[in-house]
Amino acid sequence: AIADPKLQLALVSDIGRGIAQGDFALVYQAKADARNGCVVGAEALLRWTHPVHGAIPPDSFVPTAEKTGAIVELTRWALLRAIEDQALLRAGGDEVVISVNVSARALTDGTFCAEAIERITRAGASLCLEITETAIIEDPPAAIEAIAKFREAGVRISIDDYGAGLSSLGYLKQIHADELKLDKGLISELQTNARDRLILKSTIELAHGLNMSVVSEGVEDEATRALVVALGCDYVQGYLVSRPLALEDFARLCTRARPEGHGSPEPGDFIAMRR
Ligand code: C2E
Ligand code: CA
Ligand code: CA
Repeated sequence: AIADPKLQLALVSDIGRGIAQGDFALVYQAKADARNGCVVGAEALLRWTHPVHGAIPPDSFVPTAEKTGAIVELTRWALLRAIEDQALLRAGGDEVVISVNVSARALTDGTFCAEAIERITRAGASLCLEITETAIIEDPPAAIEAIAKFREAGVRISIDDYGAGLSSLGYLKQIHADELKLDKGLISELQTNARDRLILKSTIELAHGLNMSVVSEGVEDEATRALVVALGCDYVQGYLVSRPLALEDFARLCTRARPEGHGSPEPGDFIAMRR
């Protein structure tokens, strides 16, 4: 990670040029049915190969881009690329929902939202927008209005990083979302921490009661997968299923782990499906 704030600001002024020069890419991390490993979706994650500094992880440039507003242009780029990539996947016979991370600055930008809805509708894309609680807390009325518009247009909404910060039940009450995404911090100590298991179980029940499906992120091993399934979780994401992959590699993974033809999958099929 690049810690120097001056360098970070310099990087932000490079973002526009980076987009124009094709220095950004999206990689796709599979989201799978927690019981049988069928790939049902993917999260699009940004990657930046800077001409001077090389590979820069999103944790280094996304927060700064959020501060300066460059994130809106970046999010626009990512969304349009995800729509194109989904069309390519469809052409290859793979029908998966693609999730795009949308930060507060973009979500509350009227121009961004209007164009996003227009492009998604025109392409008939099946997208999900991952929105963190901080995005909602920053400007609740604007966020709630934008979320409602996206949902009317058939776009799914996921509450990302749930359990990472001071997740409040207050906004679960206000936000009508389709998916709750449990933060990897809640998942990592499940084996050893009985309190975490209890919190997770009741959170999953609550989400189901509110008609949301539940995804656990950061699932790295089989024991954790079995545990989250036992607690009622619907989908998993993490290194157990796959690392984030370039589009071509993700397409190969999809084709190997398609939902059809696996009538009543056994949990034991989970790993086998992807070999
Ligand atoms: P996130 O949205 O929570 O994304 C999940 C992060 O966890 C990704 O890191 C992913 O590679 C990593 N991960 C996946 N599976 C595992 C696992 O099993 N174990 C562990 N330890 N980690 C796992 P990545 O790609 O470095 O992205 C970091 C963050 O950068 C994302 O966190 C998201 O907040 C942000 N980000 C990435 N792409 C975008 C984007 O297009 N727009 C916005 N606004 N933010 C983005
Ligand atoms: Ca995310
Ligand atoms: Ca997350």
